[in-house]
Amino acid sequence: MKEIFLLKLGEIVLKGANKRQFENRLRANVRRRMKPYGNFDVYILQSTVYVEPMDEAADVDGAWEACRCVFGVVSLCRCRPCEKNLDAIYDAIEAYLGDDLDCAESFKVESKRSDKSFPMTSIAISQEIGGRLAEAHPGCRVDVHHPEYTVYVEVRDLAAYVHGPAEPGAGGLPTGVGGRAMCLLSGGIDSPVAAYMIAKRGVEIEAVHFFSYPYTSQLAKDKVIELARLVTRYSGRMTVNVVPFTEIQERIRDSCPEEFFTLIMRRFMMEIAQRIARQDGCGALVTGENLGQVASQTMEAMTVTGAVVEMPVFMPLVGMDKEEIVTIARKIGTLDTSILPYEDCCTVFTPKHPKTKPTLGQVLHAERKLDRETLIAKALEGVEKVTVKYHDEPGV
Ligand code: ATP
Ligand code: MG
Repeated sequence: MKEIFLLKLGEIVLKGANKRQFENRLRANVRRRMKPYGNFDVYILQSTVYVEPMDEAADVDGAWEACRCVFGVVSLCRCRPCEKNLDAIYDAIEAYLGDDLDCAESFKVESKRSDKSFPMTSIAISQEIGGRLAEAHPGCRVDVHHPEYTVYVEVRDLAAYVHGPAEPGAGGLPTGVGGRAMCLLSGGIDSPVAAYMIAKRGVEIEAVHFFSYPYTSQLAKDKVIELARLVTRYSGRMTVNVVPFTEIQERIRDSCPEEFFTLIMRRFMMEIAQRIARQDGCGALVTGENLGQVASQTMEAMTVTGAVVEMPVFMPLVGMDKEEIVTIARKIGTLDTSILPYEDCCTVFTPKHPKTKPTLGQVLHAERKLDRETLIAKALEGVEKVTVKYHDEPGV
């Protein structure tokens, strides 16, 4: 008998009138994510997504890993469906979870009956099945308060399902219900985490990367594309806009006071990102900025950097400690790539004594010799669009 997955919906259960739209989006997202793994039927009943392999060739383990990364799912379990009667439920548990019970010292059965026409209450199901299991597994005693292992029985509309403990899902909201945003992606630890966090709120993401060849190498660019690919495991496919940034950096170096280099460079980044964002239908920018982390991330510096754009700038990491950011980077699998030692354009022409408390007036004065419009237009002409998805070959 085959195995199927039940994905329980998170916050979206609460969303009243929008619920249908959210569910449809989640179902479409799961369907798309299952494609590389073979033929799966994906449907929603009673606020649960069912993922059912349709033939033997389906890669069930691969599909399971992919389901763990789908936003909008609060928890998920692999289960065995069976007929809705006690004997069938008991047999399914023995066949599917019997080994787990033999390894545990204590257990309980927890039942849920969403099919109210089923003739027994949840408590009665648990008692009956628990009694039979206790007899068959004398080494595993019943402990309803602190069991080492819990067997779950769900009597639903189509069938009964038995499973062991559920696993936490990716949480958040289904990708696509929250609009689109443009993430400024460097090769560092922070910006991929920022992209992940905004994607988690149901936002489709796109990325922009500023590339200063030959001051930064092709490897630095490949690294960013690889980081984007790793984030797509959660966010779904993403386009990375690679912007040639060398000329802008050289012009800044040649005609602005050194203490403002980084700030002026960041202002160009924001403005160019906003232009690409508008072309591509994004409603916000996302950066990995973190208050106080470096000279360009003081409140004053952020004010000056943010002043060039009108779109909201989301900074999901702004109040976090580095430790917390690193923990997420490790969890989502971007950390090892982020710490590869290829230089980012921010480390090119870094001022020795950056201005930490700039005013907008000072920065406007410092950048007055630059022909912003021409430089920006030229950079935009050279944009290379690279689309990545998790199933592409790893880049680095
Ligand atoms: P990260 O770890 O994301 O590189 P950081 O702590 O090194 O961040 P900065 O170098 O000051 O911080 O950059 C701040 C933010 O500006 C980054 O999080 C990112 O969103 C954006 N950024 C910096 N460099 C680039 C780049 N080359 N291309 C695109 N965005 C960039
Ligand atoms: Mg950086």
